[in-house]
Amino acid sequence: MGLKTSQYNAIMREYEQRQLKNHNIQTARYKEVYEKLPEFKELDDSISILSVQYGRKLLGGDEKAVDSLKEELAILRSSKRSLLVSAGFPEDYLEPIYDCKDCKDTGYIGNKKCHCFKKAIIKLLYEQSNIKGFPVEASFDNFRLDFYPANYYDRKTGRSSRAIMEDTLRICHEFIDTFGEDFRNLFFYGSVGVGKTYLSTCIAREIMDREFSVLYLSAPQLFNTLAQNAFDKKDIDAKNMNEYIFNCDLLIIDDLGSEYTNSFIASQFFTCINERLIHRKSTIISTNLSLEALADLYTERSFSRITSSYTLLKIIGDDIRIKMKLKGREDHSCYVEQNES
Ligand SMILES: [Zn+2]
Repeated sequence: MGLKTSQYNAIMREYEQRQLKNHNIQTARYKEVYEKLPEFKELDDSISILSVQYGRKLLGGDEKAVDSLKEELAILRSSKRSLLVSAGFPEDYLEPIYDCKDCKDTGYIGNKKCHCFKKAIIKLLYEQSNIKGFPVEASFDNFRLDFYPANYYDRKTGRSSRAIMEDTLRICHEFIDTFGEDFRNLFFYGSVGVGKTYLSTCIAREIMDREFSVLYLSAPQLFNTLAQNAFDKKDIDAKNMNEYIFNCDLLIIDDLGSEYTNSFIASQFFTCINERLIHRKSTIISTNLSLEALADLYTERSFSRITSSYTLLKIIGDDIRIKMKLKGREDHSCYVEQNES
């Protein structure tokens, strides 16, 4: 699991805020009850005095006195309960309040993380991943293999869009299932609208649900951040984001080639993917460019890093977005992909 110290601290701060919030509610409730029922306060005061006496007798080993005090305390507590209920308050109105009763808002049960802590990790990972605005239905459960026709062929290999996507899905699931153990990188390429971003989003969700950190950036967002950090060392946000680009468990760079490219960007891109390879941090890249176009746009060394360390997955099909709009209409024609890529 790739929780960073800053992420861990952010979650612990949330627990502290939760405890404080609930403590304040409880204090306000006590105030309300004391104002409405002065005799309730008197009972509380008597209990405090008796409790001190009880403690002393217990230490002194005076068993007889201990027993009678115990009885007296029980009677007082029962009177308090009756008084509270008869005034119309719920019986547990003054009990400690917890968002999570299992860990009493500490995040831990013994030295194990509570289920609410795991949920908080995933929530934080989603917030930091930059995929918050993405459609929630983007998941492998909703993936439509039928959008990839069995009669649409890749010109180079003669394989159908369907067969290629079946292989791609298998590789994506292997990537997810072995994440954190095996070190892999994926490279999706193919024309606009064939579902590359959708696939990346599905993978991102699965990886975050396994409590790994994911950062999703379009290529322009990535390069802007890298440039901002390079040129303005005082920009703390850019600095933090820059660190996250290099050390998150999974970096997804979407739409590579859509940014304005110059030699600075090309070298930043190389540094980014190279550093991540050295530290065995997985990366997924998607692009609408062909491999040839990519080789022209970036340096030879970047290109060779990708071809040697990434699983290259070409996705073909007719534009999924068009297909979705035409949903319900059968198409029996047979097509061969026209774009040589
Ligand atoms: Zn809990």
